[in-house]
Amino acid sequence: MTITLRSTAVDTPGQLEIPATQIPVTAEADVVVVGGGPGGFAAALHAARMGVSVILIERFDMPGGVHTSGLQGAANEGVGGIHTELMERFAAKGYIYTATEKDLPDWAGNPLSHYERNMKPGSAFARASFNPEGAGCEMVGMLAEAGVNAMYQTAFIDAVVDGGKITAVITHNASGLQAVRGKVFIDGTGTAELAARAGVPYVRGGGGQPPGTDWDGIKRPIPGGLLWTMTGVEYDKLARHQRTSNDPWLSRVIEEAAAAGDIPAGLYRPRMKGESVYGEAYIGHPTLDMSPISAPGTFIIWQNVPYEWALHMDESAADETRARRELRGFIDAESRFLKKYVPGFENAALSDIGRFVGIRDGRHPIGEHVFSMQDATEGHEFPDAVTRPMTKTFFWDGYRKHKFTVPYRSFLPKKIDNLLLTGASLSFTYETIFMVMRNFPWCTQTGEIAGFAAARAIGKGIGVKELEWKQPYF
Ligand SMILES: Cc1cc2nc3c(=O)[nH]c(=O)nc-3n(C[C@H](O)[C@H](O)[C@H](O)COP(=O)(O)OP(=O)(O)OC[C@H]3O[C@@H](n4cnc5c(N)ncnc54)[C@H](O)[C@@H]3O)c2cc1C
Repeated sequence: MTITLRSTAVDTPGQLEIPATQIPVTAEADVVVVGGGPGGFAAALHAARMGVSVILIERFDMPGGVHTSGLQGAANEGVGGIHTELMERFAAKGYIYTATEKDLPDWAGNPLSHYERNMKPGSAFARASFNPEGAGCEMVGMLAEAGVNAMYQTAFIDAVVDGGKITAVITHNASGLQAVRGKVFIDGTGTAELAARAGVPYVRGGGGQPPGTDWDGIKRPIPGGLLWTMTGVEYDKLARHQRTSNDPWLSRVIEEAAAAGDIPAGLYRPRMKGESVYGEAYIGHPTLDMSPISAPGTFIIWQNVPYEWALHMDESAADETRARRELRGFIDAESRFLKKYVPGFENAALSDIGRFVGIRDGRHPIGEHVFSMQDATEGHEFPDAVTRPMTKTFFWDGYRKHKFTVPYRSFLPKKIDNLLLTGASLSFTYETIFMVMRNFPWCTQTGEIAGFAAARAIGKGIGVKELEWKQPYF
């Protein structure tokens, strides 16, 4: 069985006409999930457990997305379902590490702390993380146990659409170009790539920002980030240096290293207060930004894409390449600077760099309902709510708590009838990104909900848009 792809390229200078290509259809399933982050992983796992056949297409060697391949690894208290199961399985395998004030006195309130910097100095804290590689091993095993046909090192490259439905996706891997057919498709790419290639309308990253939040006329996406780790850090020595040298931000050592030519321009760029909605928080960090992970003495360090570069890494290969190249340069320089100048890092080693630069603000697909700030702040009640009301703190409007629900219609994109959205690819507006719509527990929940919806619709012999959503799943 083959699919014939016909080139849509016009014969103009700078474009190449590809002859119609026969692509073998090598696999077929009830449900085809593209991308195995928290959303895609949970969708594939849950649909398979409900008894339908499932194929998962993942470009890296493990599921987990930003949280494994991207090294993010933040562990949270289970929110139910697959998320709780993951936390329990990781813990049972010894893959969860919890740092507290006993190991890291004075970490709370330390300006270098990514998560605990705003706490009162000296307070008790518990920062739990999972080991990204260990977690990835466990997740690979879970998919295999459930009978998911997970295709790793396989890139999704295009969607074949007929009459408002996706009929197949085109993939590339060691076997070359292949087509995979399915009945229901699930977008777990984190950037709505499947939805976009299938023709679903979307707002670009950075789009939808309120007026007055641009800068020199350009709407910039919230920058993505490349995470990396160092092992062998002696925190007590570092903390002593911060205290005794009155250098909590390491500004003095940075100045010294810069004067010696050891800090490349742009590495410790200044914050740009008030220049954009997330400017202050995500423009990049004037000094080190880290969090304990995996084991004592191991820290994850954030390298955010400079805001001013305005990169759309989900849409442009040149932007993605630039981010990967220049952030690696920063990491190389930063790790050597730390070892040479900062007490506590003398014996530390650069141990891992994430497999990809995570995208925080990619495409926002337009769904049958686009979840908005008003939905959250006004606590809209939806008849097709997928969860009971959730209470979350929003920093957009001054760290206030809001209670709200999200409708099933935000999982259903416009224009395509057999596609479900998950995780960061769900239909929501720009401002809601940091509220709830992108965190790991919620992204896992969205995947489980999508997997449930796909399997239920297939079981009933109806489309996912015809499914009546009468009660919350969670
Ligand atoms: C730098 C950074 C830091 C973050 N920090 C936190 C945090 O501290 N706490 C928190 O809760 N959340 C955090 N987030 C947010 C959270 O990680 C994401 O919102 C969440 O991982 C999104 O889940 P997802 O499943 O939609 O997509 P992702 O996690 O992005 O996973 C997408 C998956 O799809 C695969 N994929 C993509 N395109 C293709 C393709 N063409 N072919 C095949 N496979 C493909 C990718 O390889 C990946 O495995 C952070 C995000 C970033 C980028």
